Amino acid sequence: MKIELIAVGNEVVYGHTINTNASYMSSELEKYGVEVCYHTAIRDKKEDIYNALDVARARVDTIILCGGLGPTKDDLTKEVVSEYFGLELILNEEAYDEIKDFFKRLQKPMLDTNYKQALLPTTSSLIPNKNGTAPGCVFEKDGITVSLFPGPPRELRPMFEYYINNFVIKNLDTICLTEEVRLLGIGESFIADEIDDLLGVFKEKNVEVAPYLGEGFVSIRLKGYGQDEIIIRENINYYKKQVQERLKKFVIGDTKKVAEELVYDILLEKSFTISTAESCTGGLLASRIVNISGASNIFNEGFVTYSNEAKIKTLGVNKDTIEKYGAVSEEVAREMALSVQKLTSSDVALSTTGIAGPTGGTQEKPVGLIYIGIAIKENLYCYKVNLYGTRGEIRSLTTAYALQYLAKHLQNM
Ligand code: ATP
Ligand code: MG
Repeated sequence: MKIELIAVGNEVVYGHTINTNASYMSSELEKYGVEVCYHTAIRDKKEDIYNALDVARARVDTIILCGGLGPTKDDLTKEVVSEYFGLELILNEEAYDEIKDFFKRLQKPMLDTNYKQALLPTTSSLIPNKNGTAPGCVFEKDGITVSLFPGPPRELRPMFEYYINNFVIKNLDTICLTEEVRLLGIGESFIADEIDDLLGVFKEKNVEVAPYLGEGFVSIRLKGYGQDEIIIRENINYYKKQVQERLKKFVIGDTKKVAEELVYDILLEKSFTISTAESCTGGLLASRIVNISGASNIFNEGFVTYSNEAKIKTLGVNKDTIEKYGAVSEEVAREMALSVQKLTSSDVALSTTGIAGPTGGTQEKPVGLIYIGIAIKENLYCYKVNLYGTRGEIRSLTTAYALQYLAKHLQNM
């Protein structure tokens, strides 16, 4: 199966809407080892849709279009695609019932234009839309499979899941499985140096090994293909074990979870509570912890102590320490973590202090210099990290590092 994704919409082409549908669909398909070859984005114009279909038809066997299925005049994807493939639009009773149901649930009257949405190309199968009025569909013509989805992601995503389960998986002749080894404290180029011989496509075992840069970490992704799940796992493990062994010092785990999820799960399992004392991250760290539903099980308190006075008065950091070493220093990060741990009677505490920039850097303490303090029970750790990026990137990377370093320590307890 070779796939081209075509996003139809002026707003996508003009840059007002980020084409998140493409990244979502590609990553979902990748899970099953289905190859997406092209991402295309075009305007809501008949001529552009025709051209895009001409191009796609010549290079792939499966075309997935999204956007422009709405009831308004500018929505013309379905009409144009049907015309292009010489298919008539006819009423799909099931889709019509679904639309009627949708309006009933909303207790709103149905409009005539919504009738138009229940028209689907002849010979197509319905992809139901539970969250909107535009049904999707899939049909085959001249050896090409074409499917249509609405633009809004909250409508498209569950429909795409349905499409994968009902139309993609059934036609797969190979299974694809992926695994990850997550690493912390090592850059991509160092990885390439250490495990150069383990990166690449290994045809004899049908495994692909590649580094992937995440937020504040690097992952080694292992993708295996085949017909038998057990053999694929064995083949993946053959490489995974070697990667883990060689990069032992840097491995956080084989998780695909985001950092806060990882920390939440470990804290919950250990029945530990956490508090935070933040300077340069200004509450981002607390916010990420609270992102996890159930955070109240583990999160006690978060302090944003931005000024020196706040660090001294609120947390109880020693004035002399700040004067001697400066607010951005290992000593202050350690004291912040220790103080907030005591103050809140938490098992665990995290602190951040650093220079987020773009101003405020010096030769000795440049923009991006960050210290992360970690207190776990009676142990105290501190990490110095040098980050690059905009102010926003540095702040958000700091939180990612803080959570991941914490996860690594908690895992090793
Ligand atoms: P509607 O019934 O809402 O009009 P539609 O199928 O006609 O649905 P569009 O009009 O193309 O879809 O887009 C509706 C909204 O969906 C856009 O304003 C945008 O917010 C979002 N959207 C459209 N295309 C994409 C895309 N490729 N990626 C992410 N979001 C998108
Ligand atoms: Mg629309």
